Amino acid sequence: MADINIDEYVTPGWFEHANCKGIDTEIFFPLFNGSSTMDSRMNKKRALAYCASCIVRENCLFRGMYSPSDTGIMGGSTFVQRSRERRLIREGKPREITAHWKE
Ligand code: SF4
Repeated sequence: MADINIDEYVTPGWFEHANCKGIDTEIFFPLFNGSSTMDSRMNKKRALAYCASCIVRENCLFRGMYSPSDTGIMGGSTFVQRSRERRLIREGKPREITAHWKE
């Protein structure tokens, strides 16, 4: 993906309106916090539920897509989903989680 200045494309101060602001962010890193598989699944589900009703989800997803080193759940997507999406974009294949984005 193109090297861009993310801040030019997202709403300034977007994280102030994040559903996850102020909560324990451990659940957003379900595979990296040393918890059991069952706990990881539960944490992933809980994190995605926060994202589902988050009004700044698109800003977060954009940031996650253009920050490959960000490993947690962002914008309702997992690290693996974003990695796959980047590959689909590079290969010119139909997108999944960013299918609604304009070119
Ligand atoms: S989309 Fe999810 S991870 Fe991103 S700010 Fe909202 S709740 Fe947090």
